[in-house]
Amino acid sequence: MPSTRLVHRSEFCAAFRLNNPDFDEAWNAATFGVCNSPHFHGHNWQMEIEVEGAVDPDTGMVLNFLHLDKLVQAEVLQPLDHKNLNIEVPFLQGVLPTTENLAACIWQRLAEVLPEGVRLVEVRLQESASHSVAYQKS
Ligand SMILES: [Zn+2]
Repeated sequence: MPSTRLVHRSEFCAAFRLNNPDFDEAWNAATFGVCNSPHFHGHNWQMEIEVEGAVDPDTGMVLNFLHLDKLVQAEVLQPLDHKNLNIEVPFLQGVLPTTENLAACIWQRLAEVLPEGVRLVEVRLQESASHSVAYQKS
């Protein structure tokens, strides 16, 4: 049975600090560099959500993009955009907000709300022109 993939692109900006409290200041400074700044700093993440499913013969769609917009908005952008990830986001409490960990959390949130028959394929987060993360969960 053929399947079709959709890609949804968006972006969000947030402040954060990478710091693992299980290690001392020197280890954190050496490991996370400028991202360990005690006064926080910001990144702009470009996000791509890829989903897959069969095209519904009645609608001609896998999933209405307007529906996907609403899910991404409610589950990811509204909770993260222009927030401090260390302080303001309940589902990131206790999570070291690396791009790898953010991608996994975003996957978890979206996987729970996608309609039946639509499968999450990959969450891609680009944190800078040269660095991006692709997360998949089998
Ligand atoms: Zn940084």
